[in-house]
Amino acid sequence: MKTNATLSVVIPVFNEQENLLELLERSLKACRSVNAPFEIILVDDGSRDRSPEMLRAAADKNPGDFIAVLLNRNYGQHAAVMAGFAHAKGDVIVSLDADLQNPPEEIPNLYRKMVSEDLDVVAGIRVPREDSALRKIPSWCVNRITQKVTGVKMHDYGCMLRAYSARVVQAMLQCTEQSTFIPVLANSFAKHTAEIEVKHAARTRGDSKYSIFKLINLQFDLLTSMTTFPLRLLSYLGAVIAFFGLALGVFILIERLVQGEVWAAQGVFTLFAILFIFIGAQFVGMGLMGEYIGRIYRDVRGRPRYLVHEVKGVSRLAAP
Ligand code: UDP
Ligand code: MG
Repeated sequence: MKTNATLSVVIPVFNEQENLLELLERSLKACRSVNAPFEIILVDDGSRDRSPEMLRAAADKNPGDFIAVLLNRNYGQHAAVMAGFAHAKGDVIVSLDADLQNPPEEIPNLYRKMVSEDLDVVAGIRVPREDSALRKIPSWCVNRITQKVTGVKMHDYGCMLRAYSARVVQAMLQCTEQSTFIPVLANSFAKHTAEIEVKHAARTRGDSKYSIFKLINLQFDLLTSMTTFPLRLLSYLGAVIAFFGLALGVFILIERLVQGEVWAAQGVFTLFAILFIFIGAQFVGMGLMGEYIGRIYRDVRGRPRYLVHEVKGVSRLAAP
């Protein structure tokens, strides 16, 4: 990547009026210290406090430095970041939270890492993480599952303080699906990735915008956006139940032969064995259906199938 690569910073804002002034000041200072052309894109995610006015005022006061993108209602953090991406023109795009839990002072570090090593994604790892246990435990589970499913070992998928190359951002914008989990989506298009440790602060002003329900929703977004494995689980479960039924049947038969007619409680257990076999078969059938649904789901999402890194040479032929 060229050394004076341009920088876009994307920040989603949802009812963050208490944090905005400090955020704007600190991120502006951090971006200026980078010594490259930059823009800070603030996406208001349908705030009901004074955030939209404050963002408009900032864009008026520092034209070029701040760009305010105001959404008409609340669409969620990841949708807001996507809206910011759609307006970002930089070679390097950094995203961070508006609540100052991600210190803007880390922006230059991410930028430098991206440029000097020509990476697709640089992810932050929050050390030490300043959140409540209630917030950390789900994160831990999500990280483990995501690492397993994607095969990409990143330590902190929940950290939104990250840098992306313009190429990866363009690919993400081509994904038309409604539910997105950006850090994971980015990884599916990235080749060269790196992680750096970033600071993390406790939230001092305002409340977390994630209730437990929103969190669960987000985890489902993450899981379903990555894999259709849960559907396949049905088949496995069915196979296990059917096998159990079959084994029970064989066992009953043997006992009947060995112990004679008194055994087997007048066929009750035999009924169970047959029942299990049928239930198992049903699950296998559902799993098969799931396979097709999974495929439909993948096609409907219409994600780009591949990303060209470079084309060298000019074609001699006219376009057909
Ligand atoms: N956010 C948003 N839309 C939402 C929820 C959150 O744009 O519906 C923004 C919020 O303003 C903040 C970031 O996403 O900049 C992270 O939110 P929060 O700090 O509440 O999440 P937590 O740190 O608890 O994960
Ligand atoms: Mg936060």
